[in-house]
Amino acid sequence: MIIDIHTHLVDLDTEFGPQLKQDLTRCGISHDTWRFTEEDYLKGTLEADKAVVFGIKGQKTGWHVSNERVAGFTARHGGKYIFFASVDPLDPKVMDDLKHCHQDLGCKGIKLGPIYQGVHPHHPVYYKIYEYCQENSLPIMTHMATTFSSGVPLEYAWPVHMDKVACDFPNLKIILSHLGHPWIGETLSIIRKQENVYADLSALYYRPWQFYNAMLLAAEYGCGNKILFGSDFPATTTQSSIIGLKNVNKVVEGTNLPKVPLTMIEDIIHRNSLALLGIE
Ligand SMILES: [Zn+2]
Repeated sequence: MIIDIHTHLVDLDTEFGPQLKQDLTRCGISHDTWRFTEEDYLKGTLEADKAVVFGIKGQKTGWHVSNERVAGFTARHGGKYIFFASVDPLDPKVMDDLKHCHQDLGCKGIKLGPIYQGVHPHHPVYYKIYEYCQENSLPIMTHMATTFSSGVPLEYAWPVHMDKVACDFPNLKIILSHLGHPWIGETLSIIRKQENVYADLSALYYRPWQFYNAMLLAAEYGCGNKILFGSDFPATTTQSSIIGLKNVNKVVEGTNLPKVPLTMIEDIIHRNSLALLGIE
């Protein structure tokens, strides 16, 4: 069983604001990467038995993905795709939207991203969201890592902020996306100490030196069991992520540097993340 815990569905032409498009260009990311059809999405996630799919809502940096559209997609592809909703803390009706996504659209989790949404992770509005999610057993996935979006302090993406959130909401299931890069050591120490906090390793393998060091550190801390598999489609596909993970030791081939245990890598690829999150 392969579960891709991190995939995006967006329509670049209608759901990306001008600033977001400029930020992509400035960081050398082709718009074509983020311009794809549902057909492309299905192909890019073909190797997954199940995939969590979401958009992002963050008016601050130009993300305007429709929850209705993502929910509609998962309804048409029943079984395989699992809908996480995104809600925007800058929306004055954010709690109504959260309830709507949960009670009417049937989302199974919530996608957040303070660095896209322009709000500190400890802000009272996020605390209301965390409270609702904890009460209703909705896991949250939050983008704790650097990004190409501008205009929001990088500090908002510092994973250490979520350690306090985990202390305040001990029953809330939290996924820290992208192993919190560049703060991978901090992220690993959080998932090790907090029972209900996990991290996904999506969109990392293509920086091979950083990825090798991340996986080796996870093995040394003994917390590979808290790492979830994900691709971050369209940044990569499920298939290329699996191959990238299996090739983690390529960068140190022919050297005396230690190897990442491939059993840990296989366990991550085949982890039943949905069961861990209480979704299925
Ligand atoms: Zn992502």
